[in-house]
Amino acid sequence: MISNANPDPFRKETFLYHRLDDKNVKCNTCSHHCTIHDGNWGYCKTKKNENGILYSFNYGLVSSYSINPIEKKPLFHYYPGSYALTIGGVSCNFKCPWCQNWSISKTNPQEFKANFTSPKEISHKIDGGKDITGISVSFNEPTLSLEYAVDIFNLLNPKTYKMFVTNGYMSKQALNILIKSGLSGTSVTLKGNEFTVAKYCKADVNKVWENISYAISQKVHVEVVCLIIPSVNDTLDFYMEVANRLVAISDNIPLHFTRFFPDYQFTHVSPTPITTLETAHSIAKESGLHYVYLGNIPGHPLENTYCHHCQSLLVKRSGYQITSSKNLELGKCPECGVEIPFVC
Ligand code: SF4
Ligand code: SF4
Repeated sequence: MISNANPDPFRKETFLYHRLDDKNVKCNTCSHHCTIHDGNWGYCKTKKNENGILYSFNYGLVSSYSINPIEKKPLFHYYPGSYALTIGGVSCNFKCPWCQNWSISKTNPQEFKANFTSPKEISHKIDGGKDITGISVSFNEPTLSLEYAVDIFNLLNPKTYKMFVTNGYMSKQALNILIKSGLSGTSVTLKGNEFTVAKYCKADVNKVWENISYAISQKVHVEVVCLIIPSVNDTLDFYMEVANRLVAISDNIPLHFTRFFPDYQFTHVSPTPITTLETAHSIAKESGLHYVYLGNIPGHPLENTYCHHCQSLLVKRSGYQITSSKNLELGKCPECGVEIPFVC
């Protein structure tokens, strides 16, 4: 489609949409597949239909930068010990009332003031940056910045890793575009079972599961993260469901149960008891998953990686730092020789 002259640097024609009748459009960036009437915004308020053309208004909008250990995403089996330039934008396609990044996820491009940052500026920071091995698009939902992420990925050195911290609700077309542009790792946050995700996030969790399976089938490294929130998803059934569904895809998918702390509209809810997380861990291990971790509990022994076969300690962590590790690049346990999957 042909767009008008573009005086707004943040405005870019959306990659994935199609025209309906009467200048209405359907956005195909995420699994909400919003129908957007002429002059209106989509659910996430980053996309607007102008005269039958769908524009993203968050291209080049960076709400924050930081250089973080990859363990903070959390990814424990993907370039361990490396650092990623992490960028975030604004808005989200989920409505989680516990969101810890609410100051950016609950705003939109009309409300948020930022200077335009070109993809080239980001690529220079990364490929010219000392000790930066990759990019992480994170904080709010990165799928909403699809056009910007793809343009950045395409400028980066092929050896620079490209990863998303995501709720996993991108459309299959969006996921394919990202993979084609070099996406090689994701941390997917799974908010709960079908009922919980529909109630709190207004979304269909089966779409997230489809994307987890599909990304793995396309050789994208995936780790799954469940923030366990008292009274929301702290049930034995949920732990079992997650573990069983992951084992059915691969018993090598790392699973992280992380501790909730009160935030946004959930300041009345107490932090997750550590015993609750330990129970979730036991259930997932008993279900057959090889690598199950606890998070947001610095110094807990279940932050470490142990060989699933001989139980040797392979990686010792404290918070986001690796304090010792054993030849991970060999891809096998130095004690018993069993295969240990690490992308290095
Ligand atoms: S990205 Fe998702 S929520 Fe936003 S307009 Fe498109 S389909 Fe709707
Ligand atoms: S998906 Fe993540 S960023 Fe979006 S509202 Fe939920 S917790 Fe916040």
